[in-house]
Formats: sequence, structure tokens, C-alpha cells
Amino acid sequence: MQHSLGRRLVLATLLFCVLFILISTSLRTYLAWNSNLDNMRSELQLIDQVLSATLSKAVWEMDRDTLQTQLDSVTQAEAVGLIELRILREGRKAEIIHYRAPGYEANTHAPELRQLLTYEPYPGAQEHIGELRLVGRESRLWQELIDDVASILLAQVLQSLMIAGLIMWLFNRSVTVHVRHIAQHLSQVSPTTLTKHLRLLRSPRHEDELNMLESGINALQDKLATYLERQNHAEQALAAHRDSLAEQVEERTAELRAANERLNDLNRRDPLTGLANRRHFDETKELELRRARRQSQPLAVMMCDVDHFKLYNDTYGHGAGDRCLCQIADLLSSLFNRSGELVTRLGGEEFAILLPGITAEQALESAQRLQEALRALNISHRASETASQVTMSIGIAQLEDEPDDFEALMQRADDALYRAKRLGRNRIIYF
Ligand code: GH3
Ligand code: MG
Ligand code: MG
Repeated sequence: MQHSLGRRLVLATLLFCVLFILISTSLRTYLAWNSNLDNMRSELQLIDQVLSATLSKAVWEMDRDTLQTQLDSVTQAEAVGLIELRILREGRKAEIIHYRAPGYEANTHAPELRQLLTYEPYPGAQEHIGELRLVGRESRLWQELIDDVASILLAQVLQSLMIAGLIMWLFNRSVTVHVRHIAQHLSQVSPTTLTKHLRLLRSPRHEDELNMLESGINALQDKLATYLERQNHAEQALAAHRDSLAEQVEERTAELRAANERLNDLNRRDPLTGLANRRHFDETKELELRRARRQSQPLAVMMCDVDHFKLYNDTYGHGAGDRCLCQIADLLSSLFNRSGELVTRLGGEEFAILLPGITAEQALESAQRLQEALRALNISHRASETASQVTMSIGIAQLEDEPDDFEALMQRADDALYRAKRLGRNRIIYF
């Protein structure tokens, strides 16, 4: 639960006022009591001054009527509670006359005045004829005191309430409103609103603690905004750096991948002819075997071996032998270029061609076209015992139903090739 600062301040002020009222009322009551006592004393003295001469004369002359009238008039005075007149006569007992004001009770606090009554029957003769005692009316003192206390209290309470109200009003106007405004502003501050400064709703001429607080909050917001901006820049720079780093990594990875592919490709190619090498052939053959089985497609292998190539080398030199091998490789590549067909240099002057989807009969036709094309190439080979130009022996085999496997298929193609050699070379044998 929230308590207003102003409310607390007013409660404290009121508490202080109650204490102040108690003390100040006590003091002023004391002073008023003394002042009332003095007033009553003065009144009694005044009465005495006015009365004593005529009273003395009436006593001397024993003028009872005048005496009665005089005393009656005195009892009219509010200050007087009791009049006691003692009349002294020589040789007689003193006569005492009492006059009490209505409601008079014996006094403890009211003032009392005693006056000797003297008379001068002729100049120079002073006669002591009696004594006058005036006692003030205490009830009047109390009544006056009650009136005084009531008015003092009323004035003090009114004064205190007005002071408390004024303080509350001033405090609310100059402090509470602004403190609430600051609290509300702070509750709405966020990284995006840091540049929106706190503005107190009052004249900017004030130079006080609230002003210092306002400047302090705004300075803090500015610093925070600068800090966040710097952090933002740093994060952006970092992100850009990270992105460029990622790009670089990606580029390098792509380069590496390409290099790797090139390397793989090189590893799987014959350096002289550029044809696939045995490793490539071995990798592909199993795939093609499984595909052929899965799709129930035929698969044929053609094994080719250049006839009397040793003699060719011996006759034309190793360099010419290389060029011859390259010519034959180009011929094979141009003839067997359908998708899936793989021309391989197994080693030396020996080539294998993988023919997916092709039966042995279709392979035979292709082999015949190959021999024709080789013949048309007309690479002369004068040392050959078979022909005047370079020729080739070819063995063909086809994948049989299971449990046939690739090793067996290759073996049959090899056997066919071997038979073609034995039967005089430059021919095609197929199983
Ligand atoms: P055949 O008709 O029975 O096949 O007889 P051939 O001489 O062709 O077979 P052989 O296996 O006796 O000889 C193969 C020759 O191939 C031996 C080798 O000098 C030659 N040769 C192998 N690789 C290369 C090569 O890369 N370049 C060259 N120029 N010659 C090679
Ligand atoms: Mg050979
Ligand atoms: Mg050979």
C-alpha cells in the first residue's frame, strides 16, 4: 500500500501542533489567570477608593440608610463576592456587617482587600472607626478562565489546521506532484525512449534538489543511450565480421570441396589417356550390378586388348606407343558415350567397357563398330603378325541370373578375350 509523503508530513505537523497547543495553551492559561487576578485586584482597589470616604462618613454618622445604599451598590459589582464591614465603637463590641453576592462560596484563590476606615471629625483628629474587607468572586475568575481557555484553544486549533493545510498544499504542489511525475517517467524508460528527457512541470528557474534530480536522471539517460549506441555499433561490426568470416569459410570450403573433387577425379582417371582408371571402374561396377539386378536390366562388359603392342613399342618407340594408346582411348570415348557407359583403361594396353542396359548381342554390334572404326583410324603397325595396322582383340560377357556376380562376369569376359587372342587376335568372342 502506498502512502503519500504529504500525508505523512501533515500527520507529523498535526502531532507537533497538538503538542504545541498543549504547551502554549497551558502557558497562556497561566498568564490569563494571573492577569484576571490582577484585574480583579485592581477592581477591588477601585471600589475601595470610591467607597471608603463615603462609607467612613456614613459609619461615623451612623447613617444606616446611606450605609445600606453604599453597600448595595458595591454588591452590584461582579468582581465582589463578599463585603465585610467591621464597625468599631469605643466601649462597645465590634459590629460586623456581611454582604454576600448571590452564589458566593468561601474563597481560596480570589484576591482579598482589607482597608482601615478612618474619619476626621475636625482637622487633625483621626478616628479609627472600622475596617472594610472586600473579597473577590472566585466563580467569576473561573468563568473568565474558561472563556479565555476556549478562545485560546479555538485560535490555536484553527492556526494549527491552517498551517497543516498550507504545508500539505505547498508540499503537494512543489514536491509530491513532481516526485510522482519522476516515478512515472522512470517506469516508462526503455532502451528506445532513452532520448526522451524528463521535464518537470514547473518553471525552469527553480534551482533546488528536484532540479538536481531532473538533471541527474537526464544525464544518466544520455550516458545509457551513448553506451547502448556504442554497444549496438560493436554488435553490428561483430555481426558483419561474423558474416564475412562465414562467407570466407564458405568460399574456402567450396574451394576445398572443388579441389577435393578434382583430386578424387584425378585419382579416378588414368593420367595418360584421361579415361577412368581401375579404381573408378571398381567403384562403379558394383553400383551398376545392383542397378541391373534391381531394374532387371541386362549388363554387358567388353574387354579390349591391343594386339602385339609390345612389338609396336619396340618398333615405333614408347612415345609413339603412348600416342597410339591416346588415339584408341579417344576412339573408345567417342563410341561409348551413352549415359552409364564407362570406358576404362585397366592397365597397359588393356581397356574395359561397362555397358549397362546392353545385352551381349548388342555389345557384339558395338564391338564390331569399334573394330571398323579402329580399322578406319588406320594406325600402321608393320611389326604386327595379324595386320598391317593396329588391331584389337575383344571379349564380351553378359551378366547372368543370380548367383552370378561381377567377378564371374569379368572372368568370363577375360576368358573370351583370351580365346580371341588364341584364335588369332583381331576378333570378337562373347559368351
Ligand atoms: P598380345 O597381342 O598377346 O597382347 O601381345 P602384346 O605385346 O600386346 O602384349 P604384352 O602383354 O606382351 O605386352 C604389352 C606391352 O604393352 C608391354 C609394354 O611395353 C606395353 N605397355 C604397357 N603400358 C604401356 C604404356 O603406358 N605406354 C607404352 N608406350 N607402352 C606400354
Ligand atoms: Mg596386347
Ligand atoms: Mg595385354
